[in-house]
Amino acid sequence: MLPPDLPVPLALLIVSLAVTAIVALRYFAASGLFALLTGRLRPGLYAGKAAQIRREIGWSLLSAAIYGAPAGMVLWAWNHLGWTRITADWAALPWWYHPISVLIYLAVQDTCFYWSHRLMHRPRWFRLAHAVHHASRPPTAWTAMSFHPIEAVTGAVVVPLLVFIVPIHVAMLGLVLTIATVMGVTNHMGWECFPRWLVHSPLGGWLITASHHERHHEDYQCNFGLYFRVWDRLCGTDRGLSRRIVAAAGHGAARPEAA
Ligand SMILES: [Zn+2]
Ligand SMILES: [Zn+2]
Repeated sequence: MLPPDLPVPLALLIVSLAVTAIVALRYFAASGLFALLTGRLRPGLYAGKAAQIRREIGWSLLSAAIYGAPAGMVLWAWNHLGWTRITADWAALPWWYHPISVLIYLAVQDTCFYWSHRLMHRPRWFRLAHAVHHASRPPTAWTAMSFHPIEAVTGAVVVPLLVFIVPIHVAMLGLVLTIATVMGVTNHMGWECFPRWLVHSPLGGWLITASHHERHHEDYQCNFGLYFRVWDRLCGTDRGLSRRIVAAAGHGAARPEAA
């Protein structure tokens, strides 16, 4: 796609800008779609939040550049140097490994997020960086990428590093990025979009959806995970679900699973 004689720094700059634009468009598409759905299904939930949402979009666009640059460089390395472990050939990996690769990527992302998130709640780091994310009170569908650049870096490097180590088919990588995008948006949108039978099932007890992450935005010092409740449970930081979301969903008699 790029002329082969293009100087490497210029090529890296171009792919970084291109991927930044794609990440920004993905953000507008995903957050926009769920914000629209929120307007339809939970009218008034974002009333009076225009200023907060404008701020969230600003921080998220900055994050798009921080996510886009390393991702663009990886794409270039894959195309030109073949350094990464990404493949476009289904037969290059055993069939049973494809779902496992998705789980590995999600588990590593989740682990990095859990521990960096806990660090971000130390007073110094909170003041310096993480306060930006928690300025959304309560969060909205637009909060998904609303991070201070320091925090965005911790999230931006994980997948671009993993692709040099853990083999994955490009379509499975696409699935990982889709899950990351959808969960990032839906976990913040202020209502539960997953069915009650899943959220309150034994499996749901290990998964993070809006009901769980909203509790983090309510109480701060708990529920630090990204996709799975494994680390929160192991480390005693799981305080269960948001009372507001569980009550609003009519998940009712439900157990908001107190601390
Ligand atoms: Zn959050
Ligand atoms: Zn936090």
